[in-house]
Amino acid sequence: MSQTKFTELRKLVRDQIKAHLLPSDTKPKQVTASPLIHATRCSLCKDLIPLGDSMYTIAFDGVSAGLQQAQVHFECHAAWQAEVGHIDTDAYPFTTDTLLRFHKAIRDALKADDDTPPDTPKPHGVRATSDWGKDRDDVERQLRARGISFTPIVW
Ligand SMILES: [Zn+2]
Repeated sequence: MSQTKFTELRKLVRDQIKAHLLPSDTKPKQVTASPLIHATRCSLCKDLIPLGDSMYTIAFDGVSAGLQQAQVHFECHAAWQAEVGHIDTDAYPFTTDTLLRFHKAIRDALKADDDTPPDTPKPHGVRATSDWGKDRDDVERQLRARGISFTPIVW
């Protein structure tokens, strides 16, 4: 998740929803994930989606002209899901695979923070931002409810 905090991604999501660049509900026309053949710029965070990563395409009804598409990273897709569903995983269930990837993204962000030398700003601010803890708790609660084994993330 490059340098961009998940909370910042969620703010970008809100801006793009206001600008009608992303759908505001949890029922877009179609969401597909596909492995990338050409490096593509993410429509949310504007970083390149690296080859080999999955690109998530969110297709939805545009304001004026027919079907619109947003092509985003896994994490950016998760930020959109979190924003429109408020990570209410009970009302809007993630697949177990998505939960596990999301769980790993949180662990990776924490590690990136902890690997940062002292006196350097943390790239994600996992320990300092309550949203991260809330997301972690939601994801782990869902994994437990599904009987999936995982190593809890502790900070
Ligand atoms: Zn992105």
